[in-house]
Amino acid sequence: MRIGIIAIQHESNTFVQTATTLDDFRHDALVCGEEVRQAFDGALHEIGGFFTGLKHAQADAVPIFAARAVPGGPVTKETFDELIATMLKQLDAAGDLDGLLVAPHGAGVCESDRDMDGYWLELVRQKIGDSIPMICTLDAHANVSQRMIDACNATIVYRTNPHVDQFERGVEAANLIVQTVNGTARPTQAVCLVPVAINIERQHTESEPCQSLIESADEMLKLDRVLSNSVVLGFPYADVEEMGASFIVVTDNDPELAAELVKKLGDELISRREEFVAHLIGIEEALETASQLEGPVCLLDMGDNVGGGSSADGTLILHALRNRGEMKSCACLFDPQAAEQAITAGVGAKLTQFSMGGKLDERLGSPLVTDVEVVSIHDGLFTEDEVRHGGKNEYNMGPSAVVQTDFGATVLLNSFRTPPFSLKQLTSCGIDPTEFQVLIAKGVQAPLAAYSPVCPHSIRVNTPGPTSADMEQLTYQYRRKPLFPFERKITDE
Ligand SMILES: [Zn+2]
Repeated sequence: MRIGIIAIQHESNTFVQTATTLDDFRHDALVCGEEVRQAFDGALHEIGGFFTGLKHAQADAVPIFAARAVPGGPVTKETFDELIATMLKQLDAAGDLDGLLVAPHGAGVCESDRDMDGYWLELVRQKIGDSIPMICTLDAHANVSQRMIDACNATIVYRTNPHVDQFERGVEAANLIVQTVNGTARPTQAVCLVPVAINIERQHTESEPCQSLIESADEMLKLDRVLSNSVVLGFPYADVEEMGASFIVVTDNDPELAAELVKKLGDELISRREEFVAHLIGIEEALETASQLEGPVCLLDMGDNVGGGSSADGTLILHALRNRGEMKSCACLFDPQAAEQAITAGVGAKLTQFSMGGKLDERLGSPLVTDVEVVSIHDGLFTEDEVRHGGKNEYNMGPSAVVQTDFGATVLLNSFRTPPFSLKQLTSCGIDPTEFQVLIAKGVQAPLAAYSPVCPHSIRVNTPGPTSADMEQLTYQYRRKPLFPFERKITDE
């Protein structure tokens, strides 16, 4: 049994000005054929799960193509055309296949199609015809389109946020494709696109209100003909028609049951929708609270959410910390220019009126200008072996420097935009996270998988920016209407 593997993954933030190009994919992952196996076999990622699951089922994995870039602005037309051309060429070269496993992100936007993933899944389906089963995995931040669902026999979505079950979902998809090919399962799926956008601040799956929603889905899995189901949280930072939450149910050859169950889950969210509105805490209140808690306190900088596509150089919390002037803090900033200056100056150098961050997006604050001492310099490479959000093992922050400010903040300057998904980002640069009262992590839920083990408390801070949790402040042009919370009335009740 030969099962092909294709992945094109990008979470595209349409509120970010900088477009995503081929270089961004090259920097993260852009691999063909056997290179896909080398890059992902063994990784705690859904593609790693594909390889492991197929191996256990004694099916042959046929790696075809994988492309992934750090979340950012929409993918340029040229880049997407190039990715598609390479993918189709590799698919042609793969020979006869019995089935296909595909791993889009689900919230990809490209300049030529706002439903990037729906587009390429449909293209693959046209290419392989209707007789070859295709099973899809998605990030829980997918904005699911009917086109994505129609192209695939089944769709399996991460069940956790932070995403720590990517590998398991990959194994699940591999098992289901093998069962489908050998005829022991006949998956059929239904989707319910709910007119509710779940606020990013409410999307932690281990706490309410998400937890009980997922428990309702877990309960359904016990039913006889249910093969899989998914609670899709949605990605609010893509201005697309499908933006919002959705539910997917996959049954064994029972489309009526799939449709009935998916509606039941949708109705639960609609009736509980007020619980999914954000609780917003401003910077000053967050710092005041953090000063009274046992440290280190993880301050989640929601407006500069790197994993949501933001620029990673926001300075608003650092400015506020300087104004308070009493808390030992640590932050990472993407600033290749500052990193290079610090590296050139060398360890021990004292730099006056040194400018850091605040250069890429005026919503995220002005540059932080202060006296610093260069503490250490690094190549920026580190490996994460634990299960962490994103399932990535090898990281490259580019040439990096640690500087100490004159107001108690330690700042790690990176040359590549790096989401805070691993504490190795700090420890590989000689920073002991337990020494600080506050650690700034530029994200909302994703950093918690890494930071919770050392931080007894975390506070989600409502900072402005292209990933502001105050999504009613963002201007949408393409979203569907009505959509809660933008329209409070979405039903006839
Ligand atoms: Zn996600």
